[in-house]
Amino acid sequence: MSEPSDLDSLLNRMRSATAPIRSTLQAIYDQFLPLRSGTVANYIPELAAAEPDWFGIAVAGVDGQVVEVGDSQHLFSIQSVSKPFVYGLALENHGRDHLLSKVNVEPSGEAFNSIMLDEATNRPFNPLVNSGAIATTDLVPGSNYTERIKNLLAMFENYVGHPVFVDNATFISERTTGHRNRAIAHLMLNFGMIEDRVDETLELYFQQCSVLVNCRDLAVMAATLANGGVNPITGARAISTEHVKDLLSIMYSCGMYDFAGEWGYLVGLPAKSGVSGAILVVVPGKFGIAVFSPPLDERGNSVRGVAVCRELSHRFGLHAFEAHFSGGTLADEFRPIRS
Ligand code: GLU
Repeated sequence: MSEPSDLDSLLNRMRSATAPIRSTLQAIYDQFLPLRSGTVANYIPELAAAEPDWFGIAVAGVDGQVVEVGDSQHLFSIQSVSKPFVYGLALENHGRDHLLSKVNVEPSGEAFNSIMLDEATNRPFNPLVNSGAIATTDLVPGSNYTERIKNLLAMFENYVGHPVFVDNATFISERTTGHRNRAIAHLMLNFGMIEDRVDETLELYFQQCSVLVNCRDLAVMAATLANGGVNPITGARAISTEHVKDLLSIMYSCGMYDFAGEWGYLVGLPAKSGVSGAILVVVPGKFGIAVFSPPLDERGNSVRGVAVCRELSHRFGLHAFEAHFSGGTLADEFRPIRS
């Protein structure tokens, strides 16, 4: 029998290192699959058609290993999980001061699609509510629509490490039903908070919500933030390290709709959820977590997604303010690969 090649031995080492975390994730998947509360979003047919039992979990380490269980390869529209990443793109191109002059960083206490702006400054409350996200999308660079959409998709591609596509049916439905977003954009134009190209910016916003990803992609995006902005699989930089903490701070305080305060208390990690049933979570310096399960609770967060993240945070002491914060057990299981 021939000697095992380097590749064989690497694969064997990976298998043995990821086995414990895979069985942990599988056990958590089995624990929460029977959780059948919540309702699938139904404001557009593409989301209403989701199966309530679709359920995937993925964890990606800062060393590039990914462990996934369930429907982790199932594609869905990224929706609001896009918002912090587009904010990052705007930060990279316009800098912090300009961004702060256009969009504040305060939790709103209002619904995500509220039409209210800050009374004193006319700024949206933060980049993760629709008004702030549309103001952020207005700052996507490019001299025309084609260039701007290319830059937007290239940004996502740096995070996921492969080409991404927009789901056309979702995009058209978002555009057809997006009257409230249109009203918000026109109000911001009225106050001079966005440029006079509202239709183009809204098209971009609807496109960004309709980008197709799967759970694994979101875990790699989260791991890229956990890794200081460098995609741990491709080695490509998606965002400068100095801006990563800006994204994570906003995700911590505003990422989970009107559940953000309780989420911070119970789970204690920067995160963003979206109406298609995804939650993306960052454990800085360690790994990214993504959960996909379409039924949403009354605040708009995935029921199983919240349950899984609470369980992982509790079981592995991941809360950022844990006195003995280790982020330990899961990360340790990744570590042997590095040596
Ligand atoms: N496309 C949705 C909107 O702008 C995003 C919903 C969400 O995931 O929060 O209304």
